[in-house]
Amino acid sequence: MQLPYCEPYKIKMTEPIRNSTRAEREGWIRDAKYNLFKLHGDQVLIDLLTDSGTGSMSDGQWSALMRGDESYAGARSYYRLKEAIERIFGMPYFLPTHQGRAAENVIFSAMIKEGDILPGNSHFDTTKGHIEFRRAVALDCTIDDAAKTDLEIPFKGEIDVTKLEAAFKKYPKEKIPCCILTVTNNTAGGQPVSMKNIRETAEMCRKYGIPLLLDSARFAQNAYFIKTREKGYENKTIKEIVHEMYTYADIMTISAKKDGVVNMGGFVAMRSEELFRKASQFNIMFEGYLTYGGMSGRDMEALAVGLDENTEFDQLDARIRQVKFLGDLLEEYGIPCQRPSGGHAIFLDAKRILPNLPKEQFIAQTLGIELYLEAGIRGVEIGSILADRDPETRENRYPALELLRLAIPARVYTDNHMRVIAAACKNVFDRRETITSGYKITYEVPIMRHFTIELDKM
Ligand SMILES: *Cc1c(COP(=O)(O)O)cnc(C)c1O
Repeated sequence: MQLPYCEPYKIKMTEPIRNSTRAEREGWIRDAKYNLFKLHGDQVLIDLLTDSGTGSMSDGQWSALMRGDESYAGARSYYRLKEAIERIFGMPYFLPTHQGRAAENVIFSAMIKEGDILPGNSHFDTTKGHIEFRRAVALDCTIDDAAKTDLEIPFKGEIDVTKLEAAFKKYPKEKIPCCILTVTNNTAGGQPVSMKNIRETAEMCRKYGIPLLLDSARFAQNAYFIKTREKGYENKTIKEIVHEMYTYADIMTISAKKDGVVNMGGFVAMRSEELFRKASQFNIMFEGYLTYGGMSGRDMEALAVGLDENTEFDQLDARIRQVKFLGDLLEEYGIPCQRPSGGHAIFLDAKRILPNLPKEQFIAQTLGIELYLEAGIRGVEIGSILADRDPETRENRYPALELLRLAIPARVYTDNHMRVIAAACKNVFDRRETITSGYKITYEVPIMRHFTIELDKM
């Protein structure tokens, strides 16, 4: 008999979670103004809000914490992280920051001015926020196929190089500080970008003299998908693939809270010494001295170990298999999802699950609230609330996709939790006809409103 798959680790520590009644959840979500971010962690049974900073560190990382050198300047831990970044990404300069958006803040302060255009593949919300905050434009050049949820293609997160070239032709070079390629494409459903697409994007950028920035939160998962889906890479190691990906990049920003599997941290790295010097002053202003940025020495230690461990095939394989396990259960139950399953999350296609709900009543948010009421499971809306208002017209933006993201934290939940999630989704799906009204906004801020928005029933 062939042995089934098992995870390449065992569990050393557990953390209790608590179930609740539907009546309790109804009260809690009302008190949270129907914003899932405002729920207390203890009011949630299975927390799929994000996999960012919520993964479970390895014993190697926990012991690395003890080695942390907390020197203000020149800490040993900084040099250990610097060595890992140079070796893994081939980037000679880096600045530590407290997380991904801080890296964006630092580098964009050095690069972006009002009126600039930043083409890319579905910019992440914080990235778009930092661009629009500077009165610049995040120009979406994602392939059209990304919006077709039931289309199964291997690299659904790619940039459309033709759209990119059109942007390069339309706007003068001085107005385009860089092109941003996000790997994997989070906003389009955790979908990967092929090496071919990275290479062609880099060639196009070079042709027009525009730097290429890789937004790298899920770089290791992207490399896993290249290995398992792109011809010519099946026999390469994840580290070899990562190394090649970054030979095409001039700059990288990263939230280390995802594929780095640490609770906090990030950095920006680059090839240009001139840009490094320019960005350094903003790092000192916003984050901290050059050799710690927003991170403690111990956090840099744990990240150095995390970057190494999580660019190994087995760790990625375990993670992505679990996401696929959930995706396959949902498919079996006939629940519409973004196909194929992404690397870190499942994205329920809320428009197809609740076709009778008008978009003005926030379809994916409504689905998220229903799933919480059903079983205490917390996902997150990736739809029109997240899309914010148009900065010019102040009208709500309604993206092509209304998704409810169920992000699976690394090494935190077991397959039994996945079974509970799938069953809860099925129960909501089975009563979808009864879900006929959504929510209206009672309070919001102009940028990244989803974190603090308040809603009420229609
Ligand atoms: C998470 C993420 C960010 C922002 O990182 P934070 O650590 O949350 O600030 C930026 N880009 C992408 C693609 C991300 O996934």
